[in-house]
Amino acid sequence: MSVAKDNKKRLFIGLITGTCVLLCAFLGLLWYVPYAGLDSFGAWATWSWGLFIFALIVLVGWGYVGLLTNVVLQRTFPFSQKARGLSVKLFLPLMTILGRVFGLSKRKIRGSFIKVNNELVLSEVGRFDPAKIMILTPHCLQASRCDMRLTYDINNCKRCGLCSIKGLLELRDKYGVHFYVATGGTIARRLVVQNRPRMIIAIACERDLASGIQDTYPLPVYGVLNERPNGPCLDTQVALIDVENALRRFIKEDKLPEDADNNVALTPLTGL
Ligand code: SF4
Repeated sequence: MSVAKDNKKRLFIGLITGTCVLLCAFLGLLWYVPYAGLDSFGAWATWSWGLFIFALIVLVGWGYVGLLTNVVLQRTFPFSQKARGLSVKLFLPLMTILGRVFGLSKRKIRGSFIKVNNELVLSEVGRFDPAKIMILTPHCLQASRCDMRLTYDINNCKRCGLCSIKGLLELRDKYGVHFYVATGGTIARRLVVQNRPRMIIAIACERDLASGIQDTYPLPVYGVLNERPNGPCLDTQVALIDVENALRRFIKEDKLPEDADNNVALTPLTGL
């Protein structure tokens, strides 16, 4: 595993640990503050309140341990299949706030979340028919000089090779999956509702991937970060080999094409 990927994982672990401690401290405070006030209802009220808060603390702690076991050991902790949901719904928003307090950039925090989300998806999700898998990309992957309209029909692409769309179309044809370009979150959501995929391989920047993963939960989303040699949202690219490797991992083995081992295409920029 590369040092950069390891750092992302360490950052995530640090942030969810901090988040869990703060959450438990907050719950402990909830327990303590009304303690004296509740006494007027009798001892049972204090105890019930205490038990309720204690149960919440156990729940948060259990979720945290489950998530950590999954991330560090890549094993499923008993009853922790919901680790991804917990990470998506509870820990990401809180750890973003915590990370900002410590001066970490949102991009870094989201990058570590996407890395861990991918590992959870890899450990939790099985294989599917190609028709149940959707590749979803943003509009900025299309060359800015190209005036083909791809949003409504991706087949309008002339496959000139100026951008990564050509390679992604070749991947679509080779593996038989769906492939769409979305110009925004609303269109992306509509495409998901219309096509009802079982999983999505999404290509985007940290911000769009993190919000897409949250929006579509519990649908598993495997995120591939785009490359931005011209800055954000302009002539971005993607390492096609990463997308192809994801397809090989998530498509049922008996549905993989015979030439699955041969890589389809080279990414224009990096040659990967
Ligand atoms: S491959 Fe060529 S035709 Fe297709 S979207 Fe890119 S620039 Fe346009």
